[in-house]
Amino acid sequence: MSLLEVRNLTVEFATSAGQFRAVEGVDVTLDKGEVLAIVGESGSGKSVSMLAVMGLLPWTATITADRMAFEGRDLREITPAERRKIIGKDIAMIFQEPMSSLNPCFTVGFQIKEALRQHLGLDRKARHNRAIELFEQVGIPAPEKRLNVFPHQMSGGMNQRVMIAMAIACNPKVLIADEPTTALDVTIQAQILDLLLELREKNGMALALITHDMGVVAETAERVAVHYAGQKVEEQPVAGLFGRPYHPYTAALLAALPERATSRILPTIPGVVPGQFDRPAGCLFAPRCAHASAICQTRPPLPRGADEGHARCHTPLLPDGKTVAAPIEEVSQ
Ligand code: SF4
Ligand code: MG
Repeated sequence: MSLLEVRNLTVEFATSAGQFRAVEGVDVTLDKGEVLAIVGESGSGKSVSMLAVMGLLPWTATITADRMAFEGRDLREITPAERRKIIGKDIAMIFQEPMSSLNPCFTVGFQIKEALRQHLGLDRKARHNRAIELFEQVGIPAPEKRLNVFPHQMSGGMNQRVMIAMAIACNPKVLIADEPTTALDVTIQAQILDLLLELREKNGMALALITHDMGVVAETAERVAVHYAGQKVEEQPVAGLFGRPYHPYTAALLAALPERATSRILPTIPGVVPGQFDRPAGCLFAPRCAHASAICQTRPPLPRGADEGHARCHTPLLPDGKTVAAPIEEVSQ
């Protein structure tokens, strides 16, 4: 049994111009102690799918899924009180925007101690000591003094560290980290990632890491899910993904890495992720795909099996990474 199991998740938002599908048919599984990286451009639905699991989307969102279970229990079938015990404690999240998730009216010390009181029932002294310990772990200098400071009195990077401290305060079983280190300089970035991996080792914490940074993925993840325009387009163990991508989008992401560039000019993927009103009828990547054929324009591809990286593609890439198999329709003629 997976620790976290989400099947066929779809999230739509009601907008004044109609329904907008932000996530479509996404599966997420996470086992104890596992590190899953979720990668993709902005607008690929990575954050939205995780916020749906946390129950943190606004009322304009319609969420459907075949299953959304933590430790075998469907999160939609438990009582609100049970849910409050799990969310924030067993499943915690580091948000992309620290300032929007810290309360500006309270000191950061109050906020972290309040989380420790509510979820772990620690007494005043234990809360204080644990808060200092957490601040030290995430590299906040002079932690005792910093406890009395309000979020607006600190830099973005420092607030991000406070938020990371809050997320790991209750030793979560699952930590969802949404671009956790983007506002931090490289030294602190490395320190935070090491800390998260240490918690994985020590407590068996599972980590879902949402990131743009393929370098971080290569160093930390065991499995990688690639998202595009709200869909998961490929998922593989990390070595497989870097060594033998099946989906043209994954291959294009990898080709854009500086260390893989064959010339001084980095290749980029032409075009942009389709928006609300320009979603293609067939494959969502077709307008940008170098391998698109006639079938790609009209028929949405379904995910393939694990032996082809679950690639959502009519014609997955061959081992040379440059050519594709003939489309199924042409083969059968
Ligand atoms: Fe490219 Fe076609 Fe595969 Fe889509 S289905 S990724 S357009 S080859
Ligand atoms: Mg995001």
